[in-house]
Amino acid sequence: MRKVYLDNNATTQVDPIVVEAMASFYLENYGNASSVHGFGQKAKAAVEEARESVASLIGAEPREIVFTSGGTEADNLALKGIAARYGSRGAKIITAKTEHPAILRTAELLEQRGFRVSYLDVDSSGIISIEDVEQEIDDDTLLISLMCANNETGTIQPLEDIAVLARERGVFLHTDAVQGVGKMALDVTTLKVDLLSLSAHKFHGPKGVGALFVRDGVELEPVMLGGSQERKRRGGTENVPGIVGLGRACQRADECRESFQALASELRGRLETGFTERIPDIVINGAEAKRLPHVSNISFKGVQGESLLIGLDIEGIAVSTGAACSSGSVSPSHVLTAMGLPAETINGAIRFSLGRMSAEEDIKYLLDVVPAVVSRMREMTPLYKS
Ligand code: PLP
Repeated sequence: MRKVYLDNNATTQVDPIVVEAMASFYLENYGNASSVHGFGQKAKAAVEEARESVASLIGAEPREIVFTSGGTEADNLALKGIAARYGSRGAKIITAKTEHPAILRTAELLEQRGFRVSYLDVDSSGIISIEDVEQEIDDDTLLISLMCANNETGTIQPLEDIAVLARERGVFLHTDAVQGVGKMALDVTTLKVDLLSLSAHKFHGPKGVGALFVRDGVELEPVMLGGSQERKRRGGTENVPGIVGLGRACQRADECRESFQALASELRGRLETGFTERIPDIVINGAEAKRLPHVSNISFKGVQGESLLIGLDIEGIAVSTGAACSSGSVSPSHVLTAMGLPAETINGAIRFSLGRMSAEEDIKYLLDVVPAVVSRMREMTPLYKS
């Protein structure tokens, strides 16, 4: 049976070139980057080289990059770090209902600490309105945090316009670009954000390593207290192999971006057209908006997303629902809910996310297998009447 991995927004296969670059920092050059001896200096040089690669991918300066343990920590550091350092300037934060839990839970914590948080609504494609942002900014507003592209639907927010607004009003702007970096062109010299989060494992790098871009002149209160690593912005011995992997993954993403975008557009086009022709009563969520080319969020009427996920897994196809499963119960996707979609559409949603290793054969297999699985499930349920 063919194995088809279409859950690249959850995580990606590590590029073998990245693994190769990392290996010597486990086996030979395993020094602590803070040590003065030769082992340490080699590690330190590799960390600084990786910092240059990360900076170069997003148009930043190396000193503007703070390495973290991933996207979640970068998001936490951005929000908590700005709130703690500049809290006396303002106590309002603006974000959106469709953000990742790394932002939402952190914003809730800051609410408990006395900040006011405004959670913006989105339209039926998942896009916020600039007018809403404009209306929400007041003299007490300290920070806006809006994701660049959504992890469940791939829809892209109008960040350029928001950045202009934030600059005009003297408000810090953070973007969770965990799903965007390495997939779309993002350059902080043109996109005037103050802070940007990224994570290696979303673009064929290792898990457990990421970075926060912090624009020159913006100060942060560290979240992780300890040694003076990362220019006192993040204590803790550097994850040297991980950082080397992140750097190499950034170089690869730069080299491969155009070919990946072309491949993804082609394959997603075939997938969506093929499904539309073969399966009645489906909805492509967020399709009217600008979307990352490798993501497709599709609702199958009359089918439970979780059941379909399991049905597809049996056929060797790995996908995801947006729903979060905790303590054995499944709560509906907060993203699709915020988009105001009907319950049936939310419950029947599946996310297909392509990666650099996806192939035409994968899509052919899906078009052969998925229609029959959906049709079998629909036959078994009284919920579906065509
Ligand atoms: N932000 C977004 C938009 C994400 O999709 C994810 C991962 O799913 C994260 C943050 C968290 O990143 P990490 O898994 O590196 O902690």
